[in-house]
Amino acid sequence: MLGAVLYGPRDVRFEERDIPRITKSTDAIIRISATCVCGSDLWPYRGINAIPQPTPMGHEYCGIVEEVGNAVTSVKPGQFVIGSFFASDNTCPNCKVGYQSSCQHAEFISTAQASVLRVPLADGTLVATPAVPSDDLIPSLLTLSDVMGTGWFAADAANVKPGSTVVVVGDGAVGLLGVLSAKQMGAGRIIAMSRHPSRQKLAREFGATDIVTERGDEGVARLNELTNGIGADSVLECVGTQESMMQAISTSRKGGYVSYVGVPHGVELNGEQLFFAHVHLHGGPAPVRRYLPELIKLVWNRKINPGKVFDLTLPLDHVAEGYRAMDERRAIKTLLRP
Ligand SMILES: [Zn+2]
Repeated sequence: MLGAVLYGPRDVRFEERDIPRITKSTDAIIRISATCVCGSDLWPYRGINAIPQPTPMGHEYCGIVEEVGNAVTSVKPGQFVIGSFFASDNTCPNCKVGYQSSCQHAEFISTAQASVLRVPLADGTLVATPAVPSDDLIPSLLTLSDVMGTGWFAADAANVKPGSTVVVVGDGAVGLLGVLSAKQMGAGRIIAMSRHPSRQKLAREFGATDIVTERGDEGVARLNELTNGIGADSVLECVGTQESMMQAISTSRKGGYVSYVGVPHGVELNGEQLFFAHVHLHGGPAPVRRYLPELIKLVWNRKINPGKVFDLTLPLDHVAEGYRAMDERRAIKTLLRP
């Protein structure tokens, strides 16, 4: 079987790997219909996270179940399934309160940029669609594995309600889908921060009412102006840098909500500043498993089309180009077809 392996900074190779097999009775083997490159894959790709040895890549996936272990009861061969980037049992105390990405038995899925994938804890991790989907639904269904679930969590954790004023910091795929999620949850005003015309266009399509192109202090000043000096009810931080986090906190109204779903890199919060900011702060790796049933329904009934974030589709063997295009910001997000 062929799959993507990262060897070092900007060195992704498509090469022969062992074909995954059932190793535990709770596993499933799925044939990948589509996978993709995540913004978070770019951290190791750019050498910001060290790569000590050649590392298989990929954590977003959907496909057809080929085989299941003896203990698996909720999915069966032939079904089309989607799962979270964290496998979870969906029964432990953390799962029960909706934090499956902090499952006591969580396992990170890390080999999905390939044609076949082993999924641990299949019963708790995978959700089947009502039938095998038509081809045009596959990109949107794939987003539910991570990027759309993460955008949805960002909006949910930021307490977006009907009529809310929402600010989205970050115009990557997660930020754009945070816009879509806020719209779906009934936000009255959605201010997207973006400096890129193609991303601004998609943000508007997804429901953004205003675009702010300024960053840092200027961005905060512009947002202040737009919210009459009060700040936003909900701020979605979808980047993970010091600047974006501080921008998010400074943009919230008193008593407002800030969610953060970008993996933090070098973010340090000042206790005193946080104390006087008077914000609710909630984030982390999105428990996308919690939202899968609801989001599958929305995609299946064509209420939302998050697959629009894929502006580049490549055969899986062109995976290196898929990374390059995202690294150089020529593509928002790359979909890969085995
Ligand atoms: Zn659990």
